[in-house]
Amino acid sequence: MGVALEKFPAICGVLPGGSGILTTADAFINWSRKSSVWPVTFGLACCAIEMMAAYASRFDFDRLGVIPRPSPRQADLMLIAGTVSKKMADPIVQIYRQMPEPRFVISMGSCANCGGPFHDSYAVLKGVDKIIPVAVYLAGCPPRPEALYYAVLKLQEKIQQMKIGHGAGAAPQQERGSRDLGAP
Ligand code: SF4
Repeated sequence: MGVALEKFPAICGVLPGGSGILTTADAFINWSRKSSVWPVTFGLACCAIEMMAAYASRFDFDRLGVIPRPSPRQADLMLIAGTVSKKMADPIVQIYRQMPEPRFVISMGSCANCGGPFHDSYAVLKGVDKIIPVAVYLAGCPPRPEALYYAVLKLQEKIQQMKIGHGAGAAPQQERGSRDLGAP
């Protein structure tokens, strides 16, 4: 599917009315992507409790198409919910690389954004964006499930802007081609 999508813009370029086909394809692909944002199931600290609450019946993420997956190979969203210790940096990058592209990251809470209350600690990373690209930052300690809901809506807005023809308007991961990430 990925290879077909990479070649599709070039094929449309030589067809009469190709740009119209491309725009329609963009709309359809973006709609299907944003309606099936599947997060990989893992949590790091207290923010993960709020993340779990968001999956539960009161907030019901399923209606946005957000269905947690137990394997990174079936997921396209990584929710960094909690304190990122330096010890966890390697496993996080490894899980991120196991996810198919395009893949997205939401940094949930102050700890994931910048180290939060543990900013001075020698053992805590000062923001998960030091090791993986982040599409949406969510402030709070911890952010409530409603805030996570809002972050997913913002991510959906970004996905809606993606174009398969080129990177313009795409999520940061797609613009940079997230394969170029270095090791932590
Ligand atoms: S931001 Fe606050 S609630 Fe979230 S993991 Fe850090 S200390 Fe815990």
